Formats: sequence, structure tokens, C-alpha cells
Amino acid sequence: MGLRYADGMADTIFTKILAGELPCHRVYEDEDVLAFLDINPLSPGHTLVIPKEPAETLDQLSDEASAAVGRVLPRIARAVLQATGATQYNVLQNNGPRAHQAVFHVHFHIIPKLEDGRGLGIDWQLGTLGDDAAELAATIAKQISLS
Ligand code: AMP
Repeated sequence: MGLRYADGMADTIFTKILAGELPCHRVYEDEDVLAFLDINPLSPGHTLVIPKEPAETLDQLSDEASAAVGRVLPRIARAVLQATGATQYNVLQNNGPRAHQAVFHVHFHIIPKLEDGRGLGIDWQLGTLGDDAAELAATIAKQISLS
């Protein structure tokens, strides 16, 4: 599988890691997926799981590459828990700079959440479903059926 992004997409630091041009602390690799330790961990064991397919955001990823990542995520998560002794964790996947994405190659964070608070902090501001919920759900469902 090629490592070049589509026209207009810049290479990222993860492209260089995939190409072997930059080092990483690898924990898993197969034909479609690489996983390695995050260089600035929120907690010990913070791991990144990336498809080898070049895509900036999750919605741009092929079904095949998504399936390859999904197939190994639980196995990698179990290994991170066993290695660190953590029992709870978050899986985080950011898309777009406003959504905290800094590296524009799809990646999933596995972040142990420790009793001392280390891990992912979440400022989760609850909203309320509006009167347009049924229409919105129908619109999303229609888009899925068209894709
Ligand atoms: P995001 O904000 O979701 O784009 O996360 C990007 C993550 O990549 C951050 O948690 C960084 O610490 C991590 N990162 C950046 N460069 C490297 C690198 N060379 N090796 C490992 N992790 C990296």
C-alpha cells in the first residue's frame, strides 16, 4: 500500500514514521496498521493506532482500512491495560484543528485513565435534543443509505 497522500495533502510526521524515516516506540504492526507510543503521553501507555492508508480524517478512510484498525483496537487496548495495570481508558479520535487534531493522518489514541487523574480530561457540556431531532436523524440516515 502506498504511503503518499492524495493530491493537495501534505506529508505528516506519521507518514515519516510509516516510511521508517523517523523512529517510534512500536507496539504493533501488520499490513494495514501501525501502533506506537505517543511522544507526549497523557498517561503511561498512551498509544496511537494508525492506518497505513493515508487519510487526513476518519470520514476519508476506506472501509477496508477502517476495518483493519477496528479489528486490532480491542487487542491493543487489552495489551496496554495489562502492561500498565490500568483498568480504565479512553479511545480518542480527533478530526480537524477545532477538534484538537494536530497531526493530519487518521489516528486513534488509547489513553489509560488512572486513579490519580492522569489520562484524558473531558469538558463534556451536555446539550438537549431539539424539536428537529427526528428530521436530523432521518437526514443522517438518508446520507448513510446514499453512501
Ligand atoms: P492529535 O491532537 O489527535 O492530532 O494527536 C496527535 C498526537 O501525536 C499527539 O498526542 C502527539 O503527542 C503525538 N505525536 C506527535 N509527534 C509524534 C511522534 N513523533 N511520535 C509519537 N507521537 C507523536
